Amino acid sequence: MKHYIVISPEVGTVIPILDDGSGPTEYGCCVVSVEANNRREALKKAINTEELSEWVNDQRSDGKNPFSGLAVIDPVCKHGTCNCDICGFQCEACMDECEPVTE
Ligand SMILES: [Zn+2]
Ligand SMILES: [Zn+2]
Repeated sequence: MKHYIVISPEVGTVIPILDDGSGPTEYGCCVVSVEANNRREALKKAINTEELSEWVNDQRSDGKNPFSGLAVIDPVCKHGTCNCDICGFQCEACMDECEPVTE
């Protein structure tokens, strides 16, 4: 099996600090590392994880497809190091080069 990182688009969550439930909006992405045989399977697994539950619930409550907009990234860099959360590695060669480790 391979490792994949699945990232949702940026979602805005309203932090309800006022009495009427309004407040500042916080933006962030849901990110999760999964183990799968291919990208399709990675997506399927990802939407069942805790990490992506916020995104999935959000999409479903809007009647949208939770798969739409998700990006699947291969965390293995050109040095062959897997930089996912499951492995917990971060390629030192990449860090030295200060290059993005995605794609
Ligand atoms: Zn990995
Ligand atoms: Zn690397």
